[in-house]
Amino acid sequence: MQDIETIWKQILEKLELRISSVSFMLWIKTIKPLEIDENGNFILVAQSVTAKNQILRNFLDKIDDCANEVTGKSFKITILDQNEEVEYLKNNKVDEKNTSKNEEKSPFKEKFTFDNFVVGKSNQFVYAAARTVAEHPGKRYNPLFIYGGVGLGKTHLLHAIGNYIHEFSPNLKIMYVTCEQFTNDYIASLYSPTKNKSIMEFRGKYRNLDVLMVDDIQFISRGKETQEEFFHTFNELIMNNKQIIICSDRPPKDIETLEDRLRSRFSSGLIHDIQAPDIETRIAILHKKSQLEKYYAEDEVINYIAERVDTNIRELEGKLSEVYFLATLNGKKVATMEEAKEVFTKEPKEEIKNDLNPDKIISTVCDYFNIGYQDIIGKKKNKEVVEPRMIAIYLISELLNLPLVNIGKIFGGRDHTTIMHSRDKITDELKTNKKIQNLVSDIKGML
Ligand code: ADP
Ligand code: MG
Repeated sequence: MQDIETIWKQILEKLELRISSVSFMLWIKTIKPLEIDENGNFILVAQSVTAKNQILRNFLDKIDDCANEVTGKSFKITILDQNEEVEYLKNNKVDEKNTSKNEEKSPFKEKFTFDNFVVGKSNQFVYAAARTVAEHPGKRYNPLFIYGGVGLGKTHLLHAIGNYIHEFSPNLKIMYVTCEQFTNDYIASLYSPTKNKSIMEFRGKYRNLDVLMVDDIQFISRGKETQEEFFHTFNELIMNNKQIIICSDRPPKDIETLEDRLRSRFSSGLIHDIQAPDIETRIAILHKKSQLEKYYAEDEVINYIAERVDTNIRELEGKLSEVYFLATLNGKKVATMEEAKEVFTKEPKEEIKNDLNPDKIISTVCDYFNIGYQDIIGKKKNKEVVEPRMIAIYLISELLNLPLVNIGKIFGGRDHTTIMHSRDKITDELKTNKKIQNLVSDIKGML
């Protein structure tokens, strides 16, 4: 049989045609194939727990079908998150060639370098700060806090710092984690049977670093323990002049779950935002991607895409790859306006919305607030469940247009006026309440 990387590549090519480009970039392209074991289990590693859940909910059948088409065999697909991968590798001897290759690889994304980052008005300040930090870690801008909307290059810059330090100061210990990984890692050590030892190991891992990068800090949970641990990690590193870089989709003052003491710590360094790129920058980015990924397209096509996608660079790239892909299907080596127009006039695939249902909305809200399903649909009146319940009701009514009476039935037989009250309350809050706006937008993102 061919090696797993080759098989996975072929599966990806098929999946890309069946999944919207945004979902593909976010959830599928980031999957790492681990192994096919002797029992026919196809083991894949998702980038995060959220990614794993998304894949399980929405894409498992498609992966299954494509794997079957590529190999002619049927597999049992298993998705692990990164912590489960570590466990799995401990318990199983994975093909040696595969693991040793992983160890050699730099932990940072190869293409996310400073060289590949296009600088324009929208990001020049943050770019300069990131470079300074990479060149002189711990000396200036500490912590460096970068915020900005989805797909504007925050993670790219973190990896660029990582790649730079890896190359020019290979002796420095540097780590990139998402806030979710940090939290999971800490919780895992808290609940480990050898708790004290695990916590010591955890601290050993995070407090002996020269550079710590934490991505997507807006997902920090309300959990006291995690915030406390993060606070101490933070202080210890800063006190020893070690560099910290943090990214978020919003400034510290708008991260509702963040404790005040952490918020004020973040303000002791440099906080700066990255903005949506202007048209010249978008064009330059598309040219860069076209070179890097070999997505050849006529200049007119590049301009056409740049004019139409203006807020998210990930989407900008996605459109270019879609257009190029269509061109290859049409037997062309360079994409032309014919394909560009086709991609943009196609009905947007509402794939995500189509498989939304009340159950999924409720489960997502429960996941987000870390509360039980029975509690949210039940009678409890404590603050921890009342607000999530109202948000779930609001979302079901807004996204699914279900009659109030039916929503009432889902929520333990509540009267339709109660449901209406919840819906209207959140609708009102959304007009002015930043916290509710953020909560609802986060949950919609997860859906
Ligand atoms: P964020 O973390 O802000 O959501 P990412 O860093 O993941 O965004 O960026 C999304 C995609 O856009 C990545 O593929 C990244 O390479 C690309 N990108 C973002 N900004 C730039 C830029 N200035 N130049 C080149 N590529 C960029
Ligand atoms: Mg990111």
